[in-house]
Amino acid sequence: MAGHKVLTNALDQLKLASEKLGLDKSIYEILKEPKRSILVSVTIKNDDKTIGVFQGIRVQHWDVKGPFKGGIRFHPNVSLDEVTALAMWMTWKCAIVNLPYGGAKGGICCDPKKMSTTELERLTRRYTSLIVDYLGPHRDIPAPDLYTNEQTMAWIMDTYSQLKGYSVPESVTGKPIEIGGSEGRKCATANSVALCTREAAKILKLKLKNATIAIQGFGNVGYNAATVMHQIGCKIVAISDSSGGILCPNGINPERLYLHKVQTGSVQNFDNCTNITNEDLLASNCDILIPAAMENQITEKNADTIKAKIVSEGANGPTAPKADKILFEKGVYLIPDILANSGGVTVSYFEWVQNLTRTHWRLEEVNSKLETRIVETFHEVERLSKKEKSDMRTSALMLGVGRVANAINTRGLWP
Ligand code: NAD
Repeated sequence: MAGHKVLTNALDQLKLASEKLGLDKSIYEILKEPKRSILVSVTIKNDDKTIGVFQGIRVQHWDVKGPFKGGIRFHPNVSLDEVTALAMWMTWKCAIVNLPYGGAKGGICCDPKKMSTTELERLTRRYTSLIVDYLGPHRDIPAPDLYTNEQTMAWIMDTYSQLKGYSVPESVTGKPIEIGGSEGRKCATANSVALCTREAAKILKLKLKNATIAIQGFGNVGYNAATVMHQIGCKIVAISDSSGGILCPNGINPERLYLHKVQTGSVQNFDNCTNITNEDLLASNCDILIPAAMENQITEKNADTIKAKIVSEGANGPTAPKADKILFEKGVYLIPDILANSGGVTVSYFEWVQNLTRTHWRLEEVNSKLETRIVETFHEVERLSKKEKSDMRTSALMLGVGRVANAINTRGLWP
């Protein structure tokens, strides 16, 4: 059900962008369906010798501009609808940052928190083997997402390589550095969130020094966003994870909170902070709100409670279209997911290029290339939004969908 809502949101966005661009109706008909959806039954031996059966999905939305690219998530909510929406957003995202990729997404419906490392390894390898014919450096290149990480990518790369008979580091991105991963990949999504937030703050004349920030989610994106924003002098006043949140107007040290989470399994009950709910976090008193967890968190029901001046979307699809409208009318500056979190796929692209050319770039080189691309893209979207008098999501979608539509028209339909 939740997945259905997310897909409806993605389709509403596509419709809006297509109408604004005045695209031929057939382009909308083409793009509303993924090119290929793969469903597999992933069966594994559990540690207690019983058998586990899980649904695995890979949706390849459109590859008109290059091979498919997109993350793989492990979560109990994973459904075909949810993965389809996420794959569609990947298509627009890659087009916005001008990456030669199409969009894809994958997932396994499971509860990774209840599985051992060896079970997760078997699950990952079995899933990879079931979709291997559709993967490859020139077909479809997976990356990490919710509850998957660089270890998961190492297993995928190893399984793919074992089945091909030779090492193919360029088959996945977000790998550990020692097997071909890129410098700066782990922080890349958070870095683009921070860069876009910095540019938006300049426009709003909001000083980042001591600006207050609330972050929903404390995983790869949330934790790294907290660290980067803390380093540039912002004050992190609220953070949450799946077990709830904490509020601390005096500021939270992300490193110390990370250790607390490792020790206790949750961000709650930290130092002098007050425990709050995720709903409280979204409505907390702050200058900048960074959703970095799940989809559909800001909806028409709670959009009015948002107090932040800037919402910078680290997560994919955290805001529903009706909430977008409310936020825009309230004057909230929203930096949409397909722009704000595009640093992840951008450095994934850099990783793929390094693998294909058998080179390894220094961190400074990666970060400087990332900054140039993200800042340029941010202002391209910003200029379009001024011209169209629209919110940043609409202009980002127009840019992404428009480029994909152009590519379809240029290539033509075969036969
Ligand atoms: P992660 O698994 O590393 O972390 C997820 C975090 O969200 C955890 O702290 C978890 O406790 C928290 N969480 C889960 N359910 C929650 C809930 N209902 N309320 C509040 N917190 C909750 O995942 P991640 O890689 O950080 O991904 C987070 C989001 O960012 C996802 O939407 C993902 O698609 C998006 N994203 C990730 C990347 C990337 O490079 N990893 C790139 C682009 C976008």
